[in-house]
Amino acid sequence: VRVAVIGGGATGLGVAWDLALRGLEVTLFEQRELAGGTTGRFHGLLHSGGRYLVTDPSAAKECFEESQLLSHIAPEGVELTGGYFVRLAGDDPAFESAWVKRAEDLALGIRPAAHKELASVFPSLTREAASGWWVPDGVLEGFRMAEMLAAAIVSRGGIIREHAKVVGLEAPGDTVHAVTIETPGGTETVACDAVVNCAGPWAGVVAGDLGLKVRIQPSFGLMLIFANRMVPKVINRLKRPGDGDIFVPHQEVVILGTTDVAQDHPEAPLPRREDVAHLMALGRELFPELDSWRILRAFNGVRPLYLPSEAQTDSRALSRDFTVIDHGASEGLEGAFSLVGGKWTTFRLMAERLGDALCSHYHIDAPCRTRETPIAQTHRPAHASSTPILCECEHVAESDLGPEESTDKLRLGTWFGMGPCQGTFCAHRVLGRSWPGELDSRLAKLREERERGLAPVMWGANARLVALNRSLRGQLLGEDLR
Ligand SMILES: Cc1cc2nc3c(=O)[nH]c(=O)nc-3n(C[C@H](O)[C@H](O)[C@H](O)COP(=O)(O)OP(=O)(O)OC[C@H]3O[C@@H](n4cnc5c(N)ncnc54)[C@H](O)[C@@H]3O)c2cc1C
Repeated sequence: VRVAVIGGGATGLGVAWDLALRGLEVTLFEQRELAGGTTGRFHGLLHSGGRYLVTDPSAAKECFEESQLLSHIAPEGVELTGGYFVRLAGDDPAFESAWVKRAEDLALGIRPAAHKELASVFPSLTREAASGWWVPDGVLEGFRMAEMLAAAIVSRGGIIREHAKVVGLEAPGDTVHAVTIETPGGTETVACDAVVNCAGPWAGVVAGDLGLKVRIQPSFGLMLIFANRMVPKVINRLKRPGDGDIFVPHQEVVILGTTDVAQDHPEAPLPRREDVAHLMALGRELFPELDSWRILRAFNGVRPLYLPSEAQTDSRALSRDFTVIDHGASEGLEGAFSLVGGKWTTFRLMAERLGDALCSHYHIDAPCRTRETPIAQTHRPAHASSTPILCECEHVAESDLGPEESTDKLRLGTWFGMGPCQGTFCAHRVLGRSWPGELDSRLAKLREERERGLAPVMWGANARLVALNRSLRGQLLGEDLR
């Protein structure tokens, strides 16, 4: 059976990996570059399940099991920092009791954390902290995991096509026969027996293009990045999940998230200053000195929340769980499936359920093998070596540069330009070495992309630093700043 997977985010990569391991012929189509959607725009929390214990216990259980499993099959894609849930004096103690009871029921492995422990891990934590609990939360390195999955898929014979947008379906007799794709080289028809819509926030739009029905409620969330990994472990507020209640460390930075605002399209909007102010105010409740932390940039990601019925519109109330849709059963189009909702942390389980449904539809006897098959680390060595360091903030050495065809792939693969100086110096070195003849044009594009996230957080000391960076770039590095 030949399967076309639409979408190169966590969901599509997971599905392509699952099906390739079952021995199916898989081609994944991504309209942009891999991880260019929500998969590259999230907090990076490897959920222990703690966040959903009270509001969505079945999602909590899935998260717990999957996070444990991922740490075994893909250890290079996660960082097992551990994390804490902290209740502040004004937060509801009844919620804490319900949360502890659920954690014990699920054997989540929590333990109480005394004030002394909290103060030693988070020296600038508010004095309003009433109680704390350790949880097995971790960090999911989204870009690295996506890169590892892509390499694994290709190693099993799967095909990945970037810059290939699926725009239509050929289904004579209501049976899938081919997808139509648009590429920079023109329009093509690619034969397949099944198609799986894994287009995340775009899943509703894609379904419409294929003549199917899927209702998605896109909802965007703002995240703020601070320099210098100001917290060493994940920290959550112990209260009903809401805005601005989690900090996740990530390599050399820390991310504060998030908000939840329904919108009517799948694209990530530009961050707004008023949302930044709102998030800062909430973040200060945990860390009163937050304004003294150096804020690097702001960005939005869009949740692909599935709307099973017409009535539901409150996006916080929608489940973070996932749904497999067999459009053969629901709409009579044989061989068409959608996999919607879910989280990065549960991508493997989501793919397993989809793979089971697809194989049972085609009477294929091929069990899921992702549970026990390692997702190997890719070629990129962890911070080599004796070659010159090109990006001091993120320790990127010359030998870390791969043969990437795009600036974004190089940036997301190595992390250059993502640290405190936001690429002021290293962009010249990295881009100049990788594409000597295209430095100016690539630099201009990179600066434009970085400035989009900087604009909404430019105030006080940060604005002065940005001005200093700009003058260094103009006067020392000879960049044209017009
Ligand atoms: C603010 C925020 C914070 C989050 N934090 C966490 C967290 O800490 N931990 C966690 O586990 N999860 C988190 N999530 C959830 C998680 O990021 C998402 O569930 C997951 O990344 C969704 O992946 P996806 O593949 O379904 O969607 P996407 O990553 O958006 O992938 C869909 C892909 O489909 C492509 N596409 C669209 N149309 C077409 C077409 N016609 N042809 C070809 N390709 C197409 C898009 O370009 C895109 O790359 C967060 C989400 C948000 C919004």
